[in-house]
Amino acid sequence: MASKQCPHAADCPLFAAFQVRAFLRIWQMNYCDATFERCVRYQRIVEGKEVPLSLMPNGKQLPDLGAPKKE
Ligand code: SF4
Repeated sequence: MASKQCPHAADCPLFAAFQVRAFLRIWQMNYCDATFERCVRYQRIVEGKEVPLSLMPNGKQLPDLGAPKKE
């Protein structure tokens, strides 16, 4: 099956965070690269609403992650 990536991946700051933090990549796999229509962030963008940086795809708040570690 062809990849179906969220059309907002390029400008979504959370997508970028998922890519640099391996333990968050599960979110990318389950939402950004799969069923992005379920993502609360995506839904808010479509509705023209503000999207807080800390809002996770499931509607919960992202804990403060600090700066990414160098690997
Ligand atoms: S977090 Fe949501 S809005 Fe951002 S790229 Fe992933 S699916 Fe799209």
